[in-house]
Amino acid sequence: MKKIQNSDTEISLINLKKEFKEIEFEIHKAINRVLEKQWFLLGEELQNFQKEFSKYLGAKYSIGVNSGSDALYLALKSLNFKEGEEVITVSHTFISTVDAIMRNNLKPVFVDIEPDTCNVDVSKIEEAITNKTRVIIPVHLYGHPVDLNHLVEIKNKYDLILIEDACQAHGAEYNKRKVGTFGDIACFSFYPSKNMGAYGDGGMIVTNDEDLANRFYLSRNYGQSKKYYHDFIGINSRLNEIQAAVLRVKLKYLEQWNEKRRHIAKLYNTLLDKNKVLIPIEKDYVKHVYYLYVIRTKFREELKEHLARNNIQTLIHYPIPVHLQLAYKNLIETQSLPVTEQASKEVLSIPMNPWLSEGDLRIVSEVINNFSM
Ligand SMILES: *Cc1c(COP(=O)(O)O)cnc(C)c1O
Repeated sequence: MKKIQNSDTEISLINLKKEFKEIEFEIHKAINRVLEKQWFLLGEELQNFQKEFSKYLGAKYSIGVNSGSDALYLALKSLNFKEGEEVITVSHTFISTVDAIMRNNLKPVFVDIEPDTCNVDVSKIEEAITNKTRVIIPVHLYGHPVDLNHLVEIKNKYDLILIEDACQAHGAEYNKRKVGTFGDIACFSFYPSKNMGAYGDGGMIVTNDEDLANRFYLSRNYGQSKKYYHDFIGINSRLNEIQAAVLRVKLKYLEQWNEKRRHIAKLYNTLLDKNKVLIPIEKDYVKHVYYLYVIRTKFREELKEHLARNNIQTLIHYPIPVHLQLAYKNLIETQSLPVTEQASKEVLSIPMNPWLSEGDLRIVSEVINNFSM
């Protein structure tokens, strides 16, 4: 097979160095504000960022925590469900969606995904509901919103709690409204590689419910209502001031960077040979924010190697569904999830970030189009 890209420079999945160059001055200023103050936790930066993030989404309350995983964990913990009660979610996701359920002694019930978006197949949710079902946690995977209208209908019909795992979907929209505002609670991650990443770990819980918000403010801070007065058992999980200051800068760029991602996806869509690979779709009622650009092929391993030989980085999101992970295999019984298992064998994430040049995209596409078995 001929090598198309000969340069030593890799075309990488993400490119945080280039992002930094674009905002370097503002970042230094923001971090310096915190250093000058020497106030590192639960201060002004966090308060302002929480307000700005709420305003951006169109939600009432945002509560900064230490990670997306903690956001999910605290979201479920605050609801005080009984051990063994059930949470409907997907197996084709990052592990911490399901860890949050297990760590709350609740039972994950997996529903298969739809083959085109790899999001939860909403038509299969009702048959998974039992008298123990309390929560649905859909994941807006890769940045493509789930079918929220139908989910909200099901939530209302069965009186369930809806928690959006929006960790991959900052700024994504469903019917022109931002995801993270449809459920009772939404969880965001600011892991560095996400569309909006901190310089370390970070996360956010979002809700319109004042009582829930008040619980979250306390539960991320040892259940403390005033200094050394603890109303319930919480944890230590706070978005620190340096991260909040950095994220305030990045929030200003999020829309613009998401638009670049969408533009890149459009170019990929026209450049890639649709007989070679399946390209991602965008349903007409959503705004996809392409945290990842995920193609599919039966020859995934071979194509991945072919791209690596040409200095093009790829990753697999995700190679092993949660229900087949070593940690989970003997813990939960589940019915078979054929669409999930098929997807895990075929998906491949190719370079996607706002700093890819048109030249980069042409090279990646040409390398893929030239691939043959
Ligand atoms: C990143 C991610 C999380 C966890 O976020 P962390 O901040 O890394 O803890 C949870 N769910 C999904 C779908 C994610 O992509």
